[in-house]
Amino acid sequence: MADALMLRPDRELIREVTQNSGGELKKCFQCATCSSVCSLSTEARPFPRQQVLKAQWGMTDQLIGDPSIWLCHDCGDCTARCPRGARPSAVMDAIRMATIRRLAFPRFMGNMVGRQENGAIMFVLSALILLAIAILPAIRSEVRPLVFAQMFPKDRLEPLFFAVSAYVVLALTIGALRFVKALRASGADGPILPALVPVLIEIIRHRRFASCGAGHVRRWGHLLVLSGFLGLALMGTTVGIGSLLGLMDTPIPTLNPLKIFANLCALLLVIGVSLLFWNRITNPEKRAGSSYCDWYFLALVGSVGLTGFLSEMLRLAQNPDWMFSVYYIHLSLVLTLFLCTPYSKFVHFLYRTLAMAATWRENQSPGQALVGARGSEITSA
Ligand code: SF4
Ligand code: SF4
Repeated sequence: MADALMLRPDRELIREVTQNSGGELKKCFQCATCSSVCSLSTEARPFPRQQVLKAQWGMTDQLIGDPSIWLCHDCGDCTARCPRGARPSAVMDAIRMATIRRLAFPRFMGNMVGRQENGAIMFVLSALILLAIAILPAIRSEVRPLVFAQMFPKDRLEPLFFAVSAYVVLALTIGALRFVKALRASGADGPILPALVPVLIEIIRHRRFASCGAGHVRRWGHLLVLSGFLGLALMGTTVGIGSLLGLMDTPIPTLNPLKIFANLCALLLVIGVSLLFWNRITNPEKRAGSSYCDWYFLALVGSVGLTGFLSEMLRLAQNPDWMFSVYYIHLSLVLTLFLCTPYSKFVHFLYRTLAMAATWRENQSPGQALVGARGSEITSA
């Protein structure tokens, strides 16, 4: 006799996914068209049909450790072909956001950042912290040229950002450990560390994006945002440590190679975000399936890039009326981005990398056929 399976539906998960996917969850009647269409779906992991079913039944534990939700690249092919209008790509996205909240450390931060009604709280909090730094008494130089350190003394700003970075690394590490535990519990037992190198190479090449119906705009937008962000993170860390050790002084001259590199990365970031915005606005399926988290993330990253550019231009113009206030907004946005990283859409870079690594061996086995129409592009590449 077959073993009985006792289900305890997580009603909170059902409510959350239904709300964040546009209320289409119940429409699915399990025809499997979506899994057939998806170019990344495999015989072993026929997503997204299975995940839509698990979400309908509120099977939280089975979804949190399911690597397939991160193997989906949100191209929208399945949604375009679903005969019931169930928006499986939006459901997958809503499941990812629900998973991020449940893996978050500390949990209350995941709950706070993930909710639309709390969207402005992190920005206000960041702005208040920076305001305290700016208005507390300090020895300030009045000499020209004007520099931002006159408003935000370095001996306060740098410790703040190092402390916040340490907090973000801790939160990401605990989230990653929780996710790996969930992956193992769900049977994804591939070796993760050895697979990280080929996975990262694949991510840099954006090969899976190329095979999706995502189109060039989304692929290039994602690639530019990733490159720009990694470059700026590298630059920020280098300058922060260099400045702390007394090896560098800020502001760095405009024609310094490091400054040129940073400006180039900021430009890539802004162009990438613009392409991703454009892709969502002009594609009716993507627009309909975009959640608050999608728009919040894009708006935050784009605003960081734009205000960074503007601050620099105003400083070069030595405009005392605007340079400090725009820089204050810029720093508040950067701090918001840091604080939101483990709980926003941004953290998908971590969970997707781990999920790809845990299933890497599956995709390399010769007998593993991809279900989707363009699957051969992946297996033969
Ligand atoms: S989401 Fe749509 S295509 Fe996929 S199984 Fe359900 S009804 Fe079919
Ligand atoms: S990769 Fe595209 S087609 Fe496949 S499940 Fe995700 S959104 Fe649907």
